[in-house]
Amino acid sequence: DRLIAGVPQVEEEVQDRAIRPRRLAEYVGQQAVRDQMEIFIHAARGRNEALDHVLLFGPPGLGKTTLAHIIANELGVNLRQTSGPVLEKPGDLAALLTNLEPHDVLFVDEIHRLSPVVEEVLYPAMEDYQIDIMIGEGPAARSIKLDLPPFTLIGATTRAGLLTSPLRDRFGIVQRLEFYNAGELETIVSRSAEILGVAIDGSGALEIARRSRGTPRIANRLLRRVRDYAEVKSDGRITDDVSTRALDMLDVDVNGFDMLDRKLLLAIIDKFDGGPVGLDNVAAAIGEERGTIEDVLEPFLIQQGFLMRTPRGRLATSSAYLHFGLKPPQTAEA
Ligand code: ADP
Repeated sequence: DRLIAGVPQVEEEVQDRAIRPRRLAEYVGQQAVRDQMEIFIHAARGRNEALDHVLLFGPPGLGKTTLAHIIANELGVNLRQTSGPVLEKPGDLAALLTNLEPHDVLFVDEIHRLSPVVEEVLYPAMEDYQIDIMIGEGPAARSIKLDLPPFTLIGATTRAGLLTSPLRDRFGIVQRLEFYNAGELETIVSRSAEILGVAIDGSGALEIARRSRGTPRIANRLLRRVRDYAEVKSDGRITDDVSTRALDMLDVDVNGFDMLDRKLLLAIIDKFDGGPVGLDNVAAAIGEERGTIEDVLEPFLIQQGFLMRTPRGRLATSSAYLHFGLKPPQTAEA
C-alpha cells in the first residue's frame, strides 16, 4: 500500500477510532464548514426538525466520515452508515430507510457510486420522506407507498461533479472540505500523539504535518510510522531530527511527495517537455490508470501549484522544476 495514500489502509479504521474527534469543537480546521454546520445544527435542534440533507465532498482522508459522525453526535441522533457500492438493490436502501428513527442520520459514503435504480428510490425519500416499493411479481405486482420518519441524508464523495444533477439538487447543504495547512495538521498530530501516549515536541509534529499532503489521515499514519522509528532507533521521543530521519527513510520528501508523485512530475518534465500533455499519454508513460492519476495524485499536486490542468493537457509548473533542482523553461507557467 502507498504510505501516503488518502484512502484508509486495512486496520486503520479500527486504529483511528480512538483518535477520531467526536465533537465539533475537536474538529480541527475547516473553519467555514464548522461555523456553518454549528448554526444549521443548532437551528434544526431548536425547531425540533431533521437537519437538511448534507453533501460533503473533497479528497479522501480529509474528514468527511468524521464530520458525518460529529453531526449526528451534535444532533443527538443515531447514525447508520452504508456506501454507494454496497446498496445493490432498491430493497437494500428501503430496509435501511424504514429502520431509521425520527431525525436520524443516514450516511452514504461514495454516494456517486449508487446504481441508478437505487438512486431513484432516494429521490422521493429525500424530498417527501416517502418510498415506493414494489411487492409481488408479474401481473399481481403492485407498488405501495411507505412513509418514512424525517431523516437526514449525509452523502460523501470525492468530487461533487460525479453526482447526477437530480441527486445533487436534493441536498440543502453542500460543503466542500479543503486540504489542511501545516499548522492545523500539527495540531491534529499533537492531539493524536497525546491520545496514543507518544512523546512528541512541536517541531517533531510540524515536520510530520508538513509532509502529510494536507490530509489528516496521512498525518496520523505518518505519526504511527515515525513512532515506530523513534522507539527502535532512538529513545521513543519524536523530535524534529527523529521525524526528519524517519520520513526520509520512508521516502516521503519535504513536500510530502513519494516516488509516484515524482515519477508523474518527472515524466511530464522529461518525456513531454513539461507539457501540456494529455492525461492518457501521462498514464501510459508512468503505467498508472487515468482514475488514479486524476483522483489520487493530481488534486494535491495541483493544489500545491506543482501541476496545472489546462484545456490542452497537464503542465508542470516552475515549482515542479525547482523541486527537482531543474531550471524551468521560459514557457513554463508559474
Ligand atoms: P474521509 O471520510 O474524508 O476519507 P475520515 O473522516 O475517515 O476521512 O478521516 C480520516 C482520519 O483523519 C480520521 O480517522 C480522523 O482521525 C482524522 N481527521 C479527519 N478530519 C479531522 C479533523 N478535522 N480534525 C482532527 N482529525 C481529523
